[in-house]
Amino acid sequence: SVCAPLPVLGRDVRVPLVTGGEVDYAALDYAASAPALQRVWDDVAAYAPYYGSVHRGAGYLSQLSTDLFENSRRTIADFLGCRADDQVVFTRSTTDSLNLLAAALPQDTRVFVFETEHHASLLPWEQRADVDVTYLDAPRTPQQAVDTLEKALAEREPYGPALVCVTGASNVTGELWPVRELAAAAHAHGARIVLDAAQLVPHHPVDLAELDADWVAFSGHKLYAPFGAGVLAGRADWLQAAAPYLAGGGASRKVTRRVSGDGAGGVDVEWHTTAARHEAGSPNVIGAYAIASACRALTEAGFPELIAREQELIDRVTAGLAEVPEVQVLSLFGADAARVGVLSFVVEGWNSSHFAAALSAEYGIGVRDGLFCAHPLVRTLLGSEPQDPGECGAPEAAPGERSLNAIRVSFGVGTPDEHVERFLRAVK
Ligand code: PMP
Repeated sequence: SVCAPLPVLGRDVRVPLVTGGEVDYAALDYAASAPALQRVWDDVAAYAPYYGSVHRGAGYLSQLSTDLFENSRRTIADFLGCRADDQVVFTRSTTDSLNLLAAALPQDTRVFVFETEHHASLLPWEQRADVDVTYLDAPRTPQQAVDTLEKALAEREPYGPALVCVTGASNVTGELWPVRELAAAAHAHGARIVLDAAQLVPHHPVDLAELDADWVAFSGHKLYAPFGAGVLAGRADWLQAAAPYLAGGGASRKVTRRVSGDGAGGVDVEWHTTAARHEAGSPNVIGAYAIASACRALTEAGFPELIAREQELIDRVTAGLAEVPEVQVLSLFGADAARVGVLSFVVEGWNSSHFAAALSAEYGIGVRDGLFCAHPLVRTLLGSEPQDPGECGAPEAAPGERSLNAIRVSFGVGTPDEHVERFLRAVK
């Protein structure tokens, strides 16, 4: 193999099988949440005894924590190829980052978004009553994605501020979207672009300057760091001009009581224009530090090696599934599309939820089934009609009917060959 899997937490977790005995857990649901890198965990553990409040304390540990927090911001800016005046804002997750950007859009912004997006990048825009959203049909090739966007942008000109939101790699098909070309199309028509990189950053380098993208959003828990922290990075101007995402301490630079004639008055607030403007409240310093540690670990391991290793696993899974005639792999862009280690499929004659449950109970393999928070995309891929997803978001097909949901297998830097081999054996 090109390079060995990186050490991650959870490798020693053993799970019972219904058939008797137990096995080590095969985590093949990296796209939902990836296991933390051992290196990230060690960094966090080494720092934990020293943590203190950020931007608030005079004490030594507060100073240390503030340095770690701000240095983490710089590490992440470097990792993302940020330009000199870009801002890195710490959020809770990709969902939070995209909601922050939606809240920060200038008035009457026009948004363009493909119907194939994850709900986190599909839904925040309509929360703004003054924002006009254009939904674009699912393209069937990367070139068609560019053409569809070009046409929609051209048809609606002239407009004021405009934003294109697109995912870098699909959380359903794993397919890579032509981000550079979409960014060029957006800019050619005076629009900006935000990249939902939740599934891209764990697998590929993302360089904002090189891609000429305006913003990028991602989550720590998919990038081999623990839960609770995410990032929105990119252009500062719209963020600086917007009302603070959360109002409170840390975001405000100066607050003054204003007393009017009748004694009521109010407060005058000067908000920060740095990233702090949108980070009110005590920040998640551990979360930020963990993301920075993951960025360092991946950079040091080397993306070319990690990508080559992952491609071996992708090829193995694709070839193995192709040997099973009942398996249909879901794809928008066709069999030859470039993808990350994320792949969804249905199995003829099987309810996807039962299939996923059997992989867990009989083989100790953790995958995901359902509609993957991308309902319109999965329905397009399955050719199915909208159904009530039910309590668990996993509608059941009657025997002999088309599947209404799918099974997703996903992996990354910690996946050993054996997990992939066990998965293929189980499917067969
Ligand atoms: N976008 C994509 C492409 C995703 O895969 C996910 C997570 N499944 C999200 C956004 C949302 O991420 P989070 O749940 O961490 O906010």
